[in-house]
Amino acid sequence: MVKYGGLALVKTIKTKLLIAGGGLASCLLAYRIKSLSSDFDFLVVEKDNQLGGNHNWSFHTTDISNSQLEWLSPLISYRWNEHNVVFPSYSRTIKKGYNTIASIDMHEKLMPLIDSHVLFNSSINYLNNKVAKLDDGTLIEADIIIDAMGYSPSEDISIAYQKFVGIEINLNKPHNLESPILMDASVEQTDGYRFIYTLPFTDKRLLVEDTRYSDNMQIDEEEYLAEIIKYMDNKGWQDYKIINREKGVLPIILNGNYSRFIDKEVEMIGMKALLCHPTTGYSLPHAVMIADLITDKLFNKSNEIAADIKQYSIQSWKRDEFFRMLNRMLFWGCEPAARYKILQRVYTLPESLIAKFYSRQYSFFEKIKMMIGMMDGFKPPIKISNALKAIYRNE
Ligand SMILES: Cc1cc2nc3c(=O)[nH]c(=O)nc-3n(C[C@H](O)[C@H](O)[C@H](O)COP(=O)(O)OP(=O)(O)OC[C@H]3O[C@@H](n4cnc5c(N)ncnc54)[C@H](O)[C@@H]3O)c2cc1C
Repeated sequence: MVKYGGLALVKTIKTKLLIAGGGLASCLLAYRIKSLSSDFDFLVVEKDNQLGGNHNWSFHTTDISNSQLEWLSPLISYRWNEHNVVFPSYSRTIKKGYNTIASIDMHEKLMPLIDSHVLFNSSINYLNNKVAKLDDGTLIEADIIIDAMGYSPSEDISIAYQKFVGIEINLNKPHNLESPILMDASVEQTDGYRFIYTLPFTDKRLLVEDTRYSDNMQIDEEEYLAEIIKYMDNKGWQDYKIINREKGVLPIILNGNYSRFIDKEVEMIGMKALLCHPTTGYSLPHAVMIADLITDKLFNKSNEIAADIKQYSIQSWKRDEFFRMLNRMLFWGCEPAARYKILQRVYTLPESLIAKFYSRQYSFFEKIKMMIGMMDGFKPPIKISNALKAIYRNE
């Protein structure tokens, strides 16, 4: 706000496209816009002083198309050609790629490109499809406004939680882990499905997270840390320095009235629109796809951007009913301590079906095959009557 002769003048900024929030979905969209057009007029407004917060965003190589992987590649911090899972009854190496983008890298790589398009330390307190208002009174008028301000809970959607605490450590000697362990569920099954997630960033640097698929969102950080240290002791990872901490509670979507949820004046992307994998809560692949969709419409001068974003979200929701059904089986059909059996069964499937599980690409017949796989040998991981009750529970 500028004061002039006792009058308070409101500062007004005009732009073609306003992206509210500077997190993952927003960064990928901004990066894609800048890669395709050096002079497109857009503005990212972020309440904090950096892009992306404090995250490591991972995804399977098969989650996105080859052309998407190509444009995303400069932002990728770490890549592996295979990854591992460990369950009480077996372990397995999956010969498919896995990748991580560290948010600090994203910030550093993006800033030289989009510096003049970002407003930091600017909190939006009002938004409609024409204007945004900041805490300091500044108005931003835009032809197109997209809300990418991250997840906020809604009464229209039933969720459970994937919660985790992680530490990034520098060891004094090599850890000898070649590729990520996405799930080590051989640990004690407390507070729902529990596993340790380990990413070997360099030969001496690791990210180790204790993750739980739980009915509640409470985290006792000290207890998680003690468990991580116990796990690392067992692996012989003892002499180290903690260089970063990460903590998260992600929604695992069970059910909901999405048409009511999505019926907002301003179009939403990212976790704001619940564009994530229902079973992992991971949103990077959707963020890549929506960046492609929006830039395609922008540069082909479509007038239908808002309608197209909405249609993408609604179609994704419809396509994902199978995964929400699995989630209901996981949370409502299983005792917490037995939840691991569902994922243990998923990982007995052929690699191609596991890849499709993460990329949400199942055909009708593959869904049937997956269900049969899970009920294999008439020893389903959960009782069939419980599974059916959970699938059709309406909450
Ligand atoms: C610790 C953690 C690890 C995760 N790991 C993965 C992973 O490995 N892979 C994966 O795919 N997903 C992961 N996720 C889940 C999900 O992908 C992330 O939460 C992702 O950051 C969501 O992207 P987004 O752009 O929708 O929201 P966010 O990245 O949360 O971005 C929203 C942005 O909006 C800003 N904002 C909010 N309110 C305002 C306001 N009023 N004014 C201005 N700005 C505002 C916030 O500061 C934030 O920067 C993880 C989540 C967490 C918390």
